[in-house]
Amino acid sequence: MNILVSEVGPRDGLQSIHRTMPTEAKLRWIRALAAAGLREIEVGSFVNPKKLPQMADAAAVVRGALDLPGVTVMALAPNLRGAQAAGAAGAHKITMPVSASYLHSLANIGVTTDQAILQVGEVVAWRDSLPAGARPDIEIGISTAFGCTIEGPVPEDRVIDMAVRLAEQGADSIGLSDGVGYANPAQVKRLFTRLHAEIGAKAGGAHFHNTRGQGLANVIAALDVGVTTFDASQGGIGGCPYSPGATGNIVTEDLVWMLEAMGLDTGIDLARLAEARAILLEGLPGEAVYGYLPEVGVEKGFHYASGAAAPEGTGKLVARPAVAA
Ligand code: ZN
Repeated sequence: MNILVSEVGPRDGLQSIHRTMPTEAKLRWIRALAAAGLREIEVGSFVNPKKLPQMADAAAVVRGALDLPGVTVMALAPNLRGAQAAGAAGAHKITMPVSASYLHSLANIGVTTDQAILQVGEVVAWRDSLPAGARPDIEIGISTAFGCTIEGPVPEDRVIDMAVRLAEQGADSIGLSDGVGYANPAQVKRLFTRLHAEIGAKAGGAHFHNTRGQGLANVIAALDVGVTTFDASQGGIGGCPYSPGATGNIVTEDLVWMLEAMGLDTGIDLARLAEARAILLEGLPGEAVYGYLPEVGVEKGFHYASGAAAPEGTGKLVARPAVAA
């Protein structure tokens, strides 16, 4: 596998949709994503269930996903209490959002950016106290790294300084996140180049939204400077609550087609990804979803990066196949 596509739909996507998908439906979808070849899936968020009832079943979803072979089960936690709950449920990896915007940090997780960085140190200390073999990885996404709906432009020096401090706190990987779709390809190249120069192997992946149609352009920019992990959500779910009607995360289906067509192996099967999309739609009838590939499928003569051929139309959304017994 050349590129890790990290599926964030069951967390990032579902948490921005007002309706709550039933636990069983979430697990059916997560299983279908795993069957399609997704090797990392963010399945839930350990936050106050009064604030985010869509994520109240996070522990049950983590537990229900743990038997998927070869899948890293990831969960979001904003603080030590959430991380401990995610760890108790068995999450393999915990992702913590730390905002580069001072105002967004207060609005999103109720603490300052400095406090959020210190909380990462607390979570790492707790993680290191666990028995070997039961220690989840701690991944950070620096949110609003490319700009903020509240604060506007965010200084690049601040983002890089934060990444260095987060690495010093012991985080395993630190990626850059653009949940509002402000990033442009030149900025992506500059920031990831600096990130790699400053924290080396701890530099993590990219999380882009397609709010202004720049999602895949930003992926290309990040690929050019050595980024190999990309978050995406099936159907592009996960719109921004501040921009009604705005599209959300970059679309897993379109990302996988682009990478495979470029000769970059994702290990993901587009036909099975379409089956997972049908299961998502069944769990969220009437919800807006996005993506081009599911409308048309692959073109004539398409080959995966592995060399395997796929018939024309593979990946096009068709009626859900009968569930295997
Ligand atoms: Zn997102």
